[in-house]
Amino acid sequence: MLNISVKQSRPVEVDVTKKGWLCERCGHEWIPKVKGFAPAVCPKCKSPYWNRPRQSAKPAPPAKPGLTKKSNPTRPSSRRVKT
Ligand SMILES: [Zn+2]
Repeated sequence: MLNISVKQSRPVEVDVTKKGWLCERCGHEWIPKVKGFAPAVCPKCKSPYWNRPRQSAKPAPPAKPGLTKKSNPTRPSSRRVKT
């Protein structure tokens, strides 16, 4: 006669927190396959700048050289004025 009564210990629920990454661009959170290695791109939005917060709006790019030449001061005023 076998009377095996294995009293199962009640499992204890714990909060398991894993370290993962958070994309600064799309807010995607994921757990990397390789620990300690920051992935090159966000797996969701593929942004390579996922770990860098978006910077404030960049100032307007500098005008292209050559296009902003000083107006020639020696240029004769050959402007015709219609009357
Ligand atoms: Zn992302």
